[in-house]
Amino acid sequence: MSEALFPRSFRKSFPRAVRGEGCHVFTADGKKYLDAAGGAAVVSIGHGVAAIGEAMAAQARRLAFVHSSQFHTEAAACLAERLRHLAPGEFRQTGRVFFTSGGSEATETALKLCRQYFIERGEPRRTRMVARWQSYHGSTLGALAVSGNLKRRATYQPLLADWGHIAPCYCYRCPLGLTYPDCHVACADELEKFVQEVGPETVAAFIVEPVVGATLGAVVPPDGYLQRIAEICRRYGILLIADEVMTGMGRTGKKFGVEHWGVVPDIILVGKGVASGYAPLGAVVVSGEVAETIAGGSGSFEHGFTYSAHAVAAAAGLAVLDHLEQNQLFARVAPAGEQLLKALEPLKNLPVVGDIRGRGLLVGVELVKDRTSREPFAPEQKLADRIYQAALEEGVVTYPIQGCVDGERGDHILLAPPYIVSGEEIAEIARALEQAIARAIRS
Ligand code: PLP
Repeated sequence: MSEALFPRSFRKSFPRAVRGEGCHVFTADGKKYLDAAGGAAVVSIGHGVAAIGEAMAAQARRLAFVHSSQFHTEAAACLAERLRHLAPGEFRQTGRVFFTSGGSEATETALKLCRQYFIERGEPRRTRMVARWQSYHGSTLGALAVSGNLKRRATYQPLLADWGHIAPCYCYRCPLGLTYPDCHVACADELEKFVQEVGPETVAAFIVEPVVGATLGAVVPPDGYLQRIAEICRRYGILLIADEVMTGMGRTGKKFGVEHWGVVPDIILVGKGVASGYAPLGAVVVSGEVAETIAGGSGSFEHGFTYSAHAVAAAAGLAVLDHLEQNQLFARVAPAGEQLLKALEPLKNLPVVGDIRGRGLLVGVELVKDRTSREPFAPEQKLADRIYQAALEEGVVTYPIQGCVDGERGDHILLAPPYIVSGEEIAEIARALEQAIARAIRS
C-alpha cells in the first residue's frame, strides 16, 4: 500500500519519528538520533518537555480557539507583552506584536504592513521590498519574492514580484572581491547605490537576516555592516525588517541577533524557536511608530490569518519562554556555541572543509573542492546531502544545504542543536560530522 503523506522528496525515505527527549529523536524502528539541527534551527529547549504539552492541553481544555477579529485571549496578550520586552530599544515600551503560524506568514505580514504603512503616510509609491541575494525569508510567494535563494526561487520565478536584491555580505566569498576591514563594508553601500538608482521614493523596506541562516550557512556580518544598513534605511525613510525567524529567541547568544551590533530595526520577525517546535507559531514585532501610523490612520490592518494568535500556540510560546527563563537557557547559548566551534576545529584537517563559522548555536561548515581557490564541488555530486546521510548513519541529524556560492554551487552543513546540548553531545556531533565528511568524500 502506498503512503498517503505527500513527502518533501519522493526519492528519499523518512524514518518514522515516535518520541523526542532532550536532544534526541527516537524512531519506530528503535533507533535514536542526536538532533544537531534542532529540526531546522527550531528546537531551542529540547524535545519532550512535558510542561509544554501540559500547558497546551490546559489551554485547549479551557479554550482552544477564538477568531482574532472577534476576541483576544489572555495567552496571546501575555505572550505579546513578554515578547516585546525581549526586543531591544523602544519595542519594550511601545512595540506591538502580531502573531502568525510561522516564519513565512511573519514575512508576508511584514511586507503587507510596510505597504499599508506607506499608504497611510501618503507615500503610495513606496512599493519595493528590497532584500539580498543568498537570503531566505520563507516559502510563500511574497516571502519567496524577497528571498534571494536562487534554487528555491527557480521553479516559481514567473510568479515572483521583482522588487530588487543587493549583494549579500559574505566575507568568505566577497561578491565585490574585497577583504574586511579594508573594504569598509562596501557591501552595505550597495543598498544606498540601489536606492539611488531606483529612487528612494519607491523603496518601502529592506529585509535582512542578521546572521544568514539556511542559504549561506551561519554567515555572520563583520562589525559595521548592519549599523551601516540601518543608517542607510534611516537616511532614506526605509523601514528595516530584521528577519530573526532563525536567529531570534536566543539562537545566536543574544535574545535577537541585531543586538550583537546595537541595531534597532522597525520590525522584527520571529518564528522557529519562539515555540521550540511545540506549536506552529511566529510573530511580527512592530515598532510603536509603525503601529501608531496605522492606529491613527485607517485604524485597521488589512490582513490576517484564521489562526493568528491561536490560543494553544500562544500557550506553547508562553510555556517555552518560561522554560527558557527558569532554566537560564538564553545564557547557555554563547558558551555552548563556543564549545561547538572548538569541538569542530579538528575538522579543519579535512582538506574539503573550507570554512567553519557562526554565532551561538547557529554554526555552518562550508565544504570546498579546493581550499586555496575555494572552488566548490559540482552540484550534481550532492555532497551536502551525502554528508547528511552519512551523519544520519552515525546517529546524528544535520541540516544540509546547497547553493551558498551562487544559488546552485556550494555545499554546507548547518548545525543548530537545542540550547540544552551537553558537552558530550557536542563532542558526539563533531565526531559524527568528521566521520560523515570523511566517508562522503571517499564514496
Ligand atoms: N525566515 C528565515 C530566516 C528562515 O530561516 C525561515 C525558515 O527557514 C523562514 C523565514 C520561513 O519560516 P517558516 O518555514 O516557518 O515559514
